[in-house]
Amino acid sequence: MTSSEELHKRRGAAVARGVGSTISSYVDHAGGGTITDVEGRQWIDFAAGIAVANVGNSAPRVVEAVKAQVERFTHTCFMVAPYESYVAVCEQLNALTPGSFEKRSALFNSGAEAVENAVKIARHATGRPAVVVFDHAYHGRTNLTMALTAKNMPYKHRFGPFAGEVYRVPMSYPLRDGGLDGATAAARSIEMIEKQVGAENVAALLIEPIQGEGGFVVPAEGFLPALREWATAAGVVFVADEIQTGFCRTGQWFACDHEDVVPDLITLAKGIAGGLPLAAVTGRAELMDAVHVGGLGGTYGGNPIACAAALASIETMRELDLACAAQRIETVMAARLRTIAERDPRIAEVRGRGAMLAVELVQPGTLTPDPAAAAVVSAACHAAGLLTLTCGTYGNVLRFLPPLVISDDELARGLDILDAAFR
Ligand SMILES: *Cc1c(COP(=O)(O)O)cnc(C)c1O
Repeated sequence: MTSSEELHKRRGAAVARGVGSTISSYVDHAGGGTITDVEGRQWIDFAAGIAVANVGNSAPRVVEAVKAQVERFTHTCFMVAPYESYVAVCEQLNALTPGSFEKRSALFNSGAEAVENAVKIARHATGRPAVVVFDHAYHGRTNLTMALTAKNMPYKHRFGPFAGEVYRVPMSYPLRDGGLDGATAAARSIEMIEKQVGAENVAALLIEPIQGEGGFVVPAEGFLPALREWATAAGVVFVADEIQTGFCRTGQWFACDHEDVVPDLITLAKGIAGGLPLAAVTGRAELMDAVHVGGLGGTYGGNPIACAAALASIETMRELDLACAAQRIETVMAARLRTIAERDPRIAEVRGRGAMLAVELVQPGTLTPDPAAAAVVSAACHAAGLLTLTCGTYGNVLRFLPPLVISDDELARGLDILDAAFR
Protein backbone atom coordinates (compact mmCIF):
# COMPACT_ATOMS: atom_id res chain seq x y z
CA MET A 1 0.00 0.00 0.00
CA THR A 2 1.17 3.49 -0.84
CA SER A 3 2.21 5.41 2.26
CA SER A 4 0.65 8.68 3.38
CA GLU A 5 3.98 10.38 2.79
CA GLU A 6 4.13 9.20 -0.81
CA LEU A 7 0.50 10.14 -1.36
CA HIS A 8 1.16 13.58 0.05
CA LYS A 9 3.99 14.03 -2.42
CA ARG A 10 1.78 12.94 -5.33
CA ARG A 11 -0.95 15.21 -4.08
CA GLY A 12 1.37 18.21 -4.07
CA ALA A 13 2.08 17.65 -7.77
CA ALA A 14 -1.52 16.88 -8.76
CA VAL A 15 -4.06 18.53 -6.46
CA ALA A 16 -4.67 22.27 -6.40
CA ARG A 17 -3.11 23.90 -3.34
CA GLY A 18 -6.34 25.74 -2.55
CA VAL A 19 -7.93 22.47 -1.44
CA GLY A 20 -6.64 21.89 2.09
CA SER A 21 -6.86 18.93 4.49
CA THR A 22 -6.95 18.87 8.28
CA ILE A 23 -4.54 15.94 8.58
CA SER A 24 -1.84 14.61 6.27
CA SER A 25 -2.66 10.92 6.76
CA TYR A 26 -4.62 9.23 3.97
CA VAL A 27 -7.68 7.14 4.69
CA ASP A 28 -7.90 3.44 3.98
CA HIS A 29 -11.25 2.65 5.58
CA ALA A 30 -13.64 3.99 8.21
CA GLY A 31 -16.64 2.91 10.25
CA GLY A 32 -18.33 3.54 13.59
CA GLY A 33 -16.25 6.15 15.38
CA THR A 34 -12.92 5.14 13.84
CA ILE A 35 -10.95 6.05 10.73
CA THR A 36 -8.03 3.82 9.70
CA ASP A 37 -5.28 5.33 7.57
CA VAL A 38 -3.13 3.61 4.94
CA GLU A 39 -0.46 2.87 7.58
CA GLY A 40 -3.07 1.00 9.63
CA ARG A 41 -3.13 3.72 12.27
CA GLN A 42 -6.50 4.29 13.91
CA TRP A 43 -8.05 7.68 14.53
CA ILE A 44 -11.01 8.36 16.79
CA ASP A 45 -13.36 10.39 14.61
CA PHE A 46 -14.71 13.60 16.17
CA ALA A 47 -15.36 15.11 12.73
CA ALA A 48 -17.70 12.73 10.87
CA GLY A 49 -16.51 14.32 7.62
CA ILE A 50 -17.92 17.66 8.91
CA ALA A 51 -21.21 16.37 10.34
CA VAL A 52 -21.91 14.16 7.32
CA ALA A 53 -21.39 10.59 8.52
CA ASN A 54 -24.09 10.82 11.21
CA VAL A 55 -25.00 7.16 10.61
CA GLY A 56 -21.28 6.29 10.46
CA ASN A 57 -19.10 5.48 7.49
CA SER A 58 -20.32 2.63 5.30
CA ALA A 59 -23.38 2.10 7.46
CA PRO A 60 -24.73 -1.40 6.66
CA ARG A 61 -28.12 -0.28 5.30
CA VAL A 62 -26.51 2.45 3.20
CA VAL A 63 -24.00 0.01 1.69
CA GLU A 64 -26.77 -2.44 0.85
CA ALA A 65 -29.01 0.24 -0.68
CA VAL A 66 -26.21 1.75 -2.74
CA LYS A 67 -25.09 -1.65 -4.05
CA ALA A 68 -28.64 -2.55 -5.08
CA GLN A 69 -29.20 0.82 -6.79
CA VAL A 70 -25.88 0.91 -8.61
CA GLU A 71 -26.75 -2.38 -10.29
CA ARG A 72 -30.24 -1.20 -11.38
CA PHE A 73 -29.30 2.21 -12.83
CA THR A 74 -26.84 4.96 -11.95
CA HIS A 75 -28.31 8.05 -13.61
CA THR A 76 -31.19 8.94 -15.88
CA CYS A 77 -31.58 12.55 -14.64
CA PHE A 78 -34.80 13.17 -12.73
CA MET A 79 -35.57 16.07 -15.11
CA VAL A 80 -35.46 13.61 -18.03
CA ALA A 81 -36.66 10.22 -16.80
CA PRO A 82 -37.89 10.30 -13.18
CA TYR A 83 -37.73 7.49 -10.59
CA GLU A 84 -39.35 6.55 -7.31
CA SER A 85 -36.49 7.11 -4.85
CA TYR A 86 -36.40 10.87 -5.55
CA VAL A 87 -40.12 11.08 -4.75
CA ALA A 88 -39.66 8.92 -1.65
CA VAL A 89 -36.84 11.14 -0.29
CA CYS A 90 -39.06 14.22 -0.77
CA GLU A 91 -41.91 12.46 1.06
CA GLN A 92 -39.58 11.65 3.96
CA LEU A 93 -38.23 15.20 4.18
CA ASN A 94 -41.71 16.72 4.02
CA ALA A 95 -42.80 14.47 6.90
CA LEU A 96 -39.67 14.83 9.09
CA THR A 97 -39.06 18.60 8.94
CA PRO A 98 -40.85 20.99 11.33
CA GLY A 99 -44.35 22.20 10.38
CA SER A 100 -47.53 20.24 9.82
CA PHE A 101 -48.56 22.18 6.68
CA GLU A 102 -48.40 20.92 3.10
CA LYS A 103 -44.78 20.81 1.92
CA ARG A 104 -42.74 20.17 -1.20
CA SER A 105 -39.03 19.38 -1.65
CA ALA A 106 -36.44 19.69 -4.40
CA LEU A 107 -33.11 17.85 -4.43
CA PHE A 108 -29.64 19.14 -5.24
CA ASN A 109 -25.99 18.08 -4.86
CA SER A 110 -24.41 20.27 -2.21
CA GLY A 111 -25.33 22.51 0.66
CA ALA A 112 -24.35 25.66 -1.22
CA GLU A 113 -26.60 24.65 -4.08
CA ALA A 114 -29.52 24.12 -1.69
CA VAL A 115 -28.96 27.57 -0.16
CA GLU A 116 -28.80 29.18 -3.63
CA ASN A 117 -32.08 27.50 -4.54
CA ALA A 118 -33.78 28.55 -1.30
CA VAL A 119 -32.88 32.15 -2.19
CA LYS A 120 -34.17 31.67 -5.75
CA ILE A 121 -37.46 30.29 -4.43
CA ALA A 122 -37.90 33.01 -1.80
CA ARG A 123 -37.19 35.78 -4.33
CA HIS A 124 -39.50 34.26 -6.90
CA ALA A 125 -42.35 33.70 -4.44
CA THR A 126 -42.14 37.18 -2.85
CA GLY A 127 -41.01 39.27 -5.80
CA ARG A 128 -38.52 40.95 -3.43
CA PRO A 129 -34.72 41.13 -3.86
CA ALA A 130 -33.02 41.33 -0.44
CA VAL A 131 -31.61 38.50 1.65
CA VAL A 132 -30.75 39.04 5.33
CA VAL A 133 -27.97 37.00 6.91
CA PHE A 134 -26.08 37.14 10.19
CA ASP A 135 -22.64 37.86 11.58
CA HIS A 136 -20.48 34.69 11.66
CA ALA A 137 -22.78 32.93 9.17
CA TYR A 138 -21.53 30.22 6.86
CA HIS A 139 -23.64 29.23 3.87
CA GLY A 140 -21.14 27.94 1.29
CA ARG A 141 -18.48 28.80 -1.28
CA THR A 142 -20.32 29.51 -4.54
CA ASN A 143 -20.63 33.13 -5.62
CA LEU A 144 -24.00 33.83 -4.01
CA THR A 145 -23.21 31.79 -0.90
CA MET A 146 -19.81 33.49 -0.48
CA ALA A 147 -21.79 36.73 -0.28
CA LEU A 148 -24.01 35.13 2.37
CA THR A 149 -21.00 33.80 4.32
CA ALA A 150 -19.44 36.22 6.81
CA LYS A 151 -15.80 35.23 7.12
CA ASN A 152 -13.25 36.57 4.66
CA MET A 153 -10.29 34.22 5.16
CA PRO A 154 -10.25 31.59 3.72
CA TYR A 155 -13.72 31.58 2.14
CA LYS A 156 -13.96 34.93 0.33
CA HIS A 157 -10.48 36.42 0.18
CA ARG A 158 -9.81 37.77 -3.35
CA PHE A 159 -12.79 35.85 -4.78
CA GLY A 160 -15.09 38.86 -5.24
CA PRO A 161 -16.99 40.73 -6.50
CA PHE A 162 -19.89 39.07 -4.74
CA ALA A 163 -23.61 38.93 -5.42
CA GLY A 164 -25.65 41.95 -4.35
CA GLU A 165 -28.74 42.50 -2.20
CA VAL A 166 -27.23 40.63 0.77
CA TYR A 167 -27.48 42.39 4.15
CA ARG A 168 -25.78 41.27 7.36
CA VAL A 169 -27.13 41.90 10.84
CA PRO A 170 -25.88 40.95 14.33
CA MET A 171 -26.24 37.40 15.60
CA SER A 172 -27.13 36.52 19.16
CA TYR A 173 -23.75 35.37 20.54
CA PRO A 174 -24.17 35.28 24.32
CA LEU A 175 -20.44 35.01 25.11
CA ARG A 176 -19.61 38.07 23.00
CA ASP A 177 -22.69 40.31 23.10
CA GLY A 178 -22.74 40.85 26.85
CA GLY A 179 -25.27 38.08 27.29
CA LEU A 180 -28.16 39.91 25.59
CA ASP A 181 -31.36 37.92 26.02
CA GLY A 182 -32.88 36.46 22.86
CA ALA A 183 -35.70 38.98 22.52
CA THR A 184 -33.35 41.97 22.93
CA ALA A 185 -30.80 40.55 20.49
CA ALA A 186 -33.59 39.90 17.96
CA ALA A 187 -34.98 43.43 18.39
CA ARG A 188 -31.51 44.83 17.65
CA SER A 189 -31.26 42.79 14.41
CA ILE A 190 -34.84 43.56 13.38
CA GLU A 191 -34.37 47.30 13.86
CA MET A 192 -31.31 47.18 11.63
CA ILE A 193 -33.26 45.31 8.93
CA GLU A 194 -36.16 47.73 9.08
CA LYS A 195 -34.01 50.86 9.07
CA GLN A 196 -31.29 49.81 6.64
CA VAL A 197 -33.08 47.45 4.23
CA GLY A 198 -36.84 47.90 4.72
CA ALA A 199 -38.91 44.84 5.53
CA GLU A 200 -40.89 45.17 2.29
CA ASN A 201 -37.67 44.68 0.29
CA VAL A 202 -36.68 41.47 2.08
CA ALA A 203 -37.35 38.14 0.37
CA ALA A 204 -35.67 35.92 2.93
CA LEU A 205 -34.12 35.88 6.36
CA LEU A 206 -31.54 33.08 6.29
CA ILE A 207 -30.15 31.71 9.54
CA GLU A 208 -28.35 28.67 10.95
CA PRO A 209 -30.26 27.75 14.14
CA ILE A 210 -26.86 26.87 15.61
CA GLN A 211 -23.99 28.32 13.61
CA GLY A 212 -21.54 25.77 12.23
CA GLU A 213 -18.32 27.11 10.69
CA GLY A 214 -18.93 30.44 12.46
CA GLY A 215 -18.13 28.86 15.84
CA PHE A 216 -20.99 26.63 17.02
CA VAL A 217 -22.73 29.75 18.24
CA VAL A 218 -25.99 28.91 20.01
CA PRO A 219 -28.27 31.96 20.04
CA ALA A 220 -29.89 32.99 23.32
CA GLU A 221 -33.25 31.38 23.96
CA GLY A 222 -36.02 33.33 22.29
CA PHE A 223 -33.84 34.79 19.49
CA LEU A 224 -35.04 32.40 16.79
CA PRO A 225 -38.73 32.50 17.83
CA ALA A 226 -38.66 36.34 17.82
CA LEU A 227 -37.16 36.43 14.31
CA ARG A 228 -39.67 33.83 13.19
CA GLU A 229 -42.53 35.94 14.49
CA TRP A 230 -41.20 39.10 12.85
CA ALA A 231 -40.72 37.33 9.50
CA THR A 232 -44.31 36.12 9.54
CA ALA A 233 -45.63 39.62 10.21
CA ALA A 234 -43.34 41.15 7.55
CA GLY A 235 -44.11 38.60 4.83
CA VAL A 236 -40.44 37.54 4.83
CA VAL A 237 -39.56 33.92 4.07
CA PHE A 238 -37.80 32.43 7.14
CA VAL A 239 -35.14 30.04 5.87
CA ALA A 240 -33.39 27.77 8.37
CA ASP A 241 -30.03 26.52 7.11
CA GLU A 242 -29.90 23.13 8.85
CA ILE A 243 -27.18 21.77 6.61
CA GLN A 244 -24.86 21.14 9.57
CA THR A 245 -27.43 20.84 12.38
CA GLY A 246 -29.91 18.52 10.67
CA PHE A 247 -30.53 14.80 10.84
CA CYS A 248 -30.32 14.09 14.56
CA ARG A 249 -27.02 15.92 15.06
CA THR A 250 -28.28 18.18 17.87
CA GLY A 251 -30.39 15.54 19.63
CA GLN A 252 -33.55 16.28 17.65
CA TRP A 253 -34.25 15.61 13.99
CA PHE A 254 -33.59 19.32 13.35
CA ALA A 255 -32.16 22.08 15.57
CA CYS A 256 -35.29 24.22 15.02
CA ASP A 257 -37.20 21.56 16.96
CA HIS A 258 -35.52 22.62 20.25
CA GLU A 259 -37.51 25.86 20.35
CA ASP A 260 -40.42 24.69 18.17
CA VAL A 261 -39.41 27.14 15.47
CA VAL A 262 -41.11 26.31 12.18
CA PRO A 263 -39.22 27.66 9.15
CA ASP A 264 -40.93 28.39 5.82
CA LEU A 265 -38.01 26.78 3.99
CA ILE A 266 -35.26 24.57 5.32
CA THR A 267 -31.97 23.75 3.58
CA LEU A 268 -30.53 20.27 4.12
CA ALA A 269 -27.37 18.43 3.07
CA LYS A 270 -24.43 16.96 5.03
CA GLY A 271 -26.03 14.29 7.27
CA ILE A 272 -28.79 13.47 4.80
CA ALA A 273 -27.35 10.51 2.89
CA GLY A 274 -24.67 8.71 4.91
CA GLY A 275 -21.84 10.39 2.99
CA LEU A 276 -23.23 10.47 -0.53
CA PRO A 277 -23.64 13.91 -2.06
CA LEU A 278 -27.26 15.04 -1.72
CA ALA A 279 -28.97 18.25 -0.63
CA ALA A 280 -32.50 19.54 -0.45
CA VAL A 281 -34.79 22.48 0.00
CA THR A 282 -37.99 21.57 1.82
CA GLY A 283 -40.79 23.96 2.67
CA ARG A 284 -44.26 25.37 2.32
CA ALA A 285 -45.98 24.07 -0.79
CA GLU A 286 -47.20 27.52 -1.83
CA LEU A 287 -43.62 28.89 -1.84
CA MET A 288 -41.98 25.85 -3.41
CA ASP A 289 -44.68 25.52 -6.07
CA ALA A 290 -44.59 29.23 -6.92
CA VAL A 291 -41.67 28.54 -9.25
CA HIS A 292 -42.51 27.77 -12.90
CA VAL A 293 -41.89 24.27 -14.29
CA GLY A 294 -38.23 23.92 -15.25
CA GLY A 295 -37.14 26.77 -12.92
CA LEU A 296 -35.46 24.40 -10.46
CA GLY A 297 -33.18 21.45 -11.09
CA GLY A 298 -29.71 20.38 -12.16
CA THR A 299 -28.20 17.41 -13.96
CA TYR A 300 -27.24 15.38 -10.89
CA GLY A 301 -29.71 16.73 -8.30
CA GLY A 302 -31.34 13.79 -6.54
CA ASN A 303 -29.06 11.24 -8.15
CA PRO A 304 -30.62 7.76 -7.68
CA ILE A 305 -27.65 6.35 -5.76
CA ALA A 306 -27.65 9.32 -3.38
CA CYS A 307 -31.43 8.99 -2.96
CA ALA A 308 -31.11 5.29 -2.13
CA ALA A 309 -28.44 6.18 0.42
CA ALA A 310 -30.65 8.91 1.93
CA LEU A 311 -33.60 6.55 2.36
CA ALA A 312 -31.30 4.01 4.03
CA SER A 313 -29.74 6.69 6.25
CA ILE A 314 -33.10 8.02 7.39
CA GLU A 315 -34.22 4.47 8.15
CA THR A 316 -31.02 3.93 10.16
CA MET A 317 -31.58 7.16 12.12
CA ARG A 318 -35.10 6.01 12.99
CA GLU A 319 -34.19 2.42 13.77
CA LEU A 320 -31.17 3.25 15.95
CA ASP A 321 -32.85 6.39 17.38
CA LEU A 322 -29.83 8.51 16.58
CA ALA A 323 -31.44 11.66 18.01
CA CYS A 324 -31.36 9.88 21.35
CA ALA A 325 -27.79 8.74 20.65
CA ALA A 326 -26.80 12.40 20.11
CA GLN A 327 -28.32 13.26 23.49
CA ARG A 328 -26.31 10.47 25.12
CA ILE A 329 -23.13 11.75 23.47
CA GLU A 330 -23.93 15.24 24.79
CA THR A 331 -24.33 13.98 28.35
CA VAL A 332 -20.95 12.24 28.36
CA MET A 333 -19.02 14.78 26.31
CA ALA A 334 -20.39 17.98 27.88
CA ALA A 335 -19.62 16.70 31.39
CA ARG A 336 -16.06 15.92 30.37
CA LEU A 337 -15.61 19.27 28.58
CA ARG A 338 -16.87 21.12 31.65
CA THR A 339 -14.37 19.28 33.83
CA ILE A 340 -11.57 20.33 31.48
CA ALA A 341 -12.92 23.91 31.41
CA GLU A 342 -12.95 24.11 35.21
CA ARG A 343 -9.21 23.61 35.40
CA ASP A 344 -8.27 25.39 32.15
CA PRO A 345 -8.79 29.18 32.11
CA ARG A 346 -8.26 29.28 28.33
CA ILE A 347 -11.76 27.81 27.89
CA ALA A 348 -14.24 30.70 27.96
CA GLU A 349 -17.27 28.58 27.20
CA VAL A 350 -18.48 25.04 26.54
CA ARG A 351 -21.47 25.18 24.22
CA GLY A 352 -23.55 23.38 21.61
CA ARG A 353 -26.30 20.81 21.54
CA GLY A 354 -26.35 17.06 21.18
CA ALA A 355 -23.32 15.74 19.30
CA MET A 356 -22.46 19.27 18.14
CA LEU A 357 -20.34 20.63 20.99
CA ALA A 358 -17.46 23.06 21.13
CA VAL A 359 -15.13 24.98 23.41
CA GLU A 360 -14.10 28.57 22.70
CA LEU A 361 -10.53 29.44 23.65
CA VAL A 362 -9.41 32.86 24.86
CA GLN A 363 -6.50 34.47 26.64
CA PRO A 364 -7.24 33.73 30.30
CA GLY A 365 -9.32 36.35 32.06
CA THR A 366 -10.28 38.12 28.81
CA LEU A 367 -12.49 37.54 25.79
CA THR A 368 -9.52 37.94 23.45
CA PRO A 369 -9.68 34.98 21.05
CA ASP A 370 -6.73 32.58 21.19
CA PRO A 371 -6.57 30.79 17.83
CA ALA A 372 -2.97 29.70 18.58
CA ALA A 373 -4.17 27.70 21.60
CA ALA A 374 -6.84 26.04 19.46
CA ALA A 375 -4.18 25.13 16.90
CA VAL A 376 -1.86 23.71 19.58
CA VAL A 377 -4.58 21.58 21.21
CA SER A 378 -5.75 20.37 17.79
CA ALA A 379 -2.24 19.41 16.81
CA ALA A 380 -1.82 17.50 20.08
CA CYS A 381 -5.09 15.65 19.42
CA HIS A 382 -4.02 14.78 15.89
CA ALA A 383 -0.63 13.54 17.07
CA ALA A 384 -2.39 11.27 19.58
CA GLY A 385 -4.92 9.88 17.08
CA LEU A 386 -8.02 11.99 17.61
CA LEU A 387 -9.48 13.81 14.61
CA THR A 388 -10.88 17.18 15.74
CA LEU A 389 -11.78 20.33 13.81
CA THR A 390 -11.55 24.02 14.58
CA CYS A 391 -13.99 26.74 13.53
CA GLY A 392 -15.12 30.25 14.39
CA THR A 393 -14.69 33.71 12.97
CA TYR A 394 -11.57 34.00 15.14
CA GLY A 395 -10.41 30.41 14.52
CA ASN A 396 -10.41 29.83 18.28
CA VAL A 397 -13.18 27.24 18.62
CA LEU A 398 -12.52 23.50 18.89
CA ARG A 399 -15.58 21.62 17.70
CA PHE A 400 -16.61 18.03 18.16
CA LEU A 401 -18.88 16.21 15.71
CA PRO A 402 -18.57 12.46 16.24
CA PRO A 403 -20.62 10.05 14.14
CA LEU A 404 -23.81 9.39 16.11
CA VAL A 405 -23.00 5.65 16.07
CA ILE A 406 -19.68 6.13 17.90
CA SER A 407 -19.31 3.48 20.61
CA ASP A 408 -19.07 4.37 24.30
CA ASP A 409 -15.51 3.07 24.29
CA GLU A 410 -14.47 5.14 21.25
CA LEU A 411 -16.08 8.23 22.75
CA ALA A 412 -14.28 7.72 26.07
CA ARG A 413 -10.93 7.15 24.35
CA GLY A 414 -11.43 10.30 22.25
CA LEU A 415 -12.22 12.35 25.34
CA ASP A 416 -9.16 10.95 27.14
CA ILE A 417 -6.98 12.13 24.26
CA LEU A 418 -8.64 15.55 24.31
CA ASP A 419 -8.17 15.82 28.06
CA ALA A 420 -4.47 14.96 27.73
CA ALA A 421 -4.09 17.40 24.82
CA PHE A 422 -5.35 20.24 27.02
CA ARG A 423 -2.84 19.28 29.70
C1 LIG B 1 -21.43 23.00 5.03
C2 LIG B 1 -22.47 24.03 5.06
C3 LIG B 1 -22.96 24.63 3.89
C4 LIG B 1 -22.39 24.33 2.52
O1 LIG B 1 -22.54 22.99 2.18
P1 LIG B 1 -21.63 22.36 1.00
O2 LIG B 1 -22.20 21.00 0.81
O3 LIG B 1 -20.23 22.36 1.49
O4 LIG B 1 -21.83 23.24 -0.17
C5 LIG B 1 -23.98 25.56 4.00
N1 LIG B 1 -24.50 25.87 5.20
C6 LIG B 1 -24.07 25.32 6.35
C7 LIG B 1 -24.70 25.69 7.64
C8 LIG B 1 -23.03 24.39 6.32
O5 LIG B 1 -22.58 23.86 7.46
